Amino acid sequence: MKKTVIIGAGGVGNVVAQKCARDAETFGEIWLASRTLEKCEAIAADIKASTGVEIKTAQIDADDVGATAAFLREVGADYLLNIALPYQDLTLMEACLQAGVHYLDTANYESPENPHFEYKEQWAFQDRFKEAGLTAILGSGFDPGVTNVFCAYALKHLFSEIRTVDIIDANAGDHGLPFATNFSPEINIREITAPGRYWEKGEWQEIPALSVSTDFDFPHQEIGTKKIYLLHHEEMESLAQNLPGLERIRFWMTFSDNYINHLTVLENVGMTAIEPMTIGGVEISPLQFLQKVLPDPASLGPLTKGKTCIGCLITGTSKETGKEECKFIYNICDHQDCFAEVKSQAISYTAGVPAMIGARQLVSGAWLRPGVWNLEQLDPDPFMDDLNAWGLPWHVLEVDRELSP
Ligand code: NDP
Repeated sequence: MKKTVIIGAGGVGNVVAQKCARDAETFGEIWLASRTLEKCEAIAADIKASTGVEIKTAQIDADDVGATAAFLREVGADYLLNIALPYQDLTLMEACLQAGVHYLDTANYESPENPHFEYKEQWAFQDRFKEAGLTAILGSGFDPGVTNVFCAYALKHLFSEIRTVDIIDANAGDHGLPFATNFSPEINIREITAPGRYWEKGEWQEIPALSVSTDFDFPHQEIGTKKIYLLHHEEMESLAQNLPGLERIRFWMTFSDNYINHLTVLENVGMTAIEPMTIGGVEISPLQFLQKVLPDPASLGPLTKGKTCIGCLITGTSKETGKEECKFIYNICDHQDCFAEVKSQAISYTAGVPAMIGARQLVSGAWLRPGVWNLEQLDPDPFMDDLNAWGLPWHVLEVDRELSP
């Protein structure tokens, strides 16, 4: 029987475990391991109650390569789904090589000390995974993840050449709290307070954080027109490299004025700083302290109402007409529907379901290809079919003009 190990029992880990359990025939024996055993046990109990499927649990420190590799060998794992934090990517890739296990994650490696992400450390594993006959899939969440697959699908079926890509991520949900982040506060705030970046004509352009914004009309009346801000986001690095002929790629996200006001105050008073300070002889990073006092993203599930919309606005030469066209490929997800299904809001759901779907391609063999891959390098078709089958249906809309500016 196949054996699948999920590491990380946070908001996204819950969704991945819930969804894998609903497809236990594919995933075989399922393990959920994390730093805190009780979190794994609570999720396992919930899965047993809602689906009747028993998953196994374990305590693991994923920063410890030797202990993790020994655990993977002991379990006899075939696949490891890294749903812990980006800090664990390198140690878990190393543990997979030592134990002979295929690897998948949802976020690009970052070191805890430096809020800067690049794929180079993970791409450096390419030869070792190839030689070991093992597959590593990088960034199988929504963005990165589904957005990469949307681009690959567009290139395979809609455009003979892609000229520009604007990835647009809207959360029009409301949790009713004064301020909270929808996934790991530490990771979320590091991402948003970093300088914005986009790629144009072969060069990276850098702008001050949140200094460029525009309005976008989302294709759902419950979302409507929203202000979107230009951010740096990891999938642009691989897409800029892997989409031939691409001239420009940018990433945009919605934030409410209330969110921006809170974040500005927190930044102004130094609460988003990563560098630790010594208080009463104890070293404390302000951002990690802030994470402790902010609501746990997992607690937002029952509170959040409204929808998310994430998609790729793509211009290029249409395969069908040979003319320049602009299309928006997107998914709309409802926070309350997600909570009813897996006790999680849509942000964790939209990250967790694609991790399970990416893992399905590994287990089925469709994406088994020794080496280290970003999702646009793999066949988009079975993944796109699974999005429709497993809760994230997608749509393609003709748009009459590309994003301005
Ligand atoms: P959470 O903070 O809610 O959960 C992280 C989990 O990882 C916790 O259960 C934590 O354990 C566990 N963990 C942390 N360090 C270790 C360690 N050393 N050993 C074992 N377990 C550890 O985060 P989320 O669930 O919100 O996010 C999970 C991942 O998904 C992150 O990498 C995030 O960047 C990514 N993500 C990707 C998205 C995408 O679209 N691609 C979107 C959203 C998130 P404990 O609780 O015991 O401390």
